Amino acid sequence: MISLNDFKRQWTEISGATLAAVERVGASGQRILGEEVRRFEAALATRWGVPHAIGVGSGLDALEIALRCLDLRPGDKVLTTPLSAFATALAVVRAGATPVFVDTDDEGLLDLDLVERALRADRAIKVVLPVHLYGVPVDLERLEGLAAAFDVAIVEDCAQAILAGWGERPVGAVSRLAATSFYPTKNLGALGDGGAVVTADARLAERARSLRNYGQTARQYEHVELGLNSRLDELHAAILHDALLPRLAAWTERRRALAARYRAELSNPALRALAPSSRARPVWHLFPVFVRGSRDAFRQHLERAGVASGIHYPRLITGQPALDGRAELASSLDRAQSLVESEASIPIHPHLTDSEVGAVIEACNAWHPVSSP
Ligand SMILES: *Cc1c(COP(=O)(O)O)cnc(C)c1O
Repeated sequence: MISLNDFKRQWTEISGATLAAVERVGASGQRILGEEVRRFEAALATRWGVPHAIGVGSGLDALEIALRCLDLRPGDKVLTTPLSAFATALAVVRAGATPVFVDTDDEGLLDLDLVERALRADRAIKVVLPVHLYGVPVDLERLEGLAAAFDVAIVEDCAQAILAGWGERPVGAVSRLAATSFYPTKNLGALGDGGAVVTADARLAERARSLRNYGQTARQYEHVELGLNSRLDELHAAILHDALLPRLAAWTERRRALAARYRAELSNPALRALAPSSRARPVWHLFPVFVRGSRDAFRQHLERAGVASGIHYPRLITGQPALDGRAELASSLDRAQSLVESEASIPIHPHLTDSEVGAVIEACNAWHPVSSP
């Protein structure tokens, strides 16, 4: 089976550097918030092209901490997309704000015309939280313009988009603070949970460092606000620094090469692939195709051909029972709804071989929607 992720192949590539990192942390005697975390944060900030990175426990926590740094008050609203991981909206609620949703465009990204309309209509919206879904960036210049015109903060969810960019700028660049995740399937995936907040603002970076550590200040045992326990640990920081971050650029180039090949060779008119703007520099966390016809039949056809597939996502965030009574809609969500009904993700991880990619393409091109049950 050609799978969506292959952690076993990844392990053969990273095991030497990983085991050496474990050995070093073990011998160092330091377990939490030591030199390894500082070193990884500095390396991540440099690689990303942002001044400050703060290692935390997960992508969800990174988003919550980023939002909490903005001092949102009850009644403040955060405008975001209904098509994302549930964590995007969960972080908003956990930060004490109300999520407001507008529709996506046909590529699955927040529709910025609708964002502008919502900002004009509702001054309680204090933050726009775009998601660079599938690793394809939202238009950063337009976001920056909206932030200036309406005096709102941007907080980008970069969980799927580390190293992606718009023109010359990296994702995260137009945010007061941005968040990413090191969940194992992510492009910079650790061997467990982790995440990071990035920001250009030294004061906000200090605040995020305090929030991840119970709200403690630089003075030990002094707590100035109610924080979380959400510290990236030394072990993961060392593994990320030694084994994973050094490979991220090459892995990202591999994802881009695979996406280019899919885009050139997928020729089935029943499958629509994304067509990012020429300004966008996507990193292809996922490769979605939108199926005209029965998605189930398409996925069964792939499975018979030995190709795994996924659905990102099977339903809109606004349809999740946990959000009942907590969310607002500022537009219809018809386009996002049609995407959740037709999307299928085909394999695009950096350890796929060329012949496996050829087999995926062949299976996709051989599917005939009319003749399927
Ligand atoms: C994975 C993901 C998150 C959450 O990250 P965790 O580390 O799993 O908490 C948030 N937003 C998006 C878009 C994601 O893909």
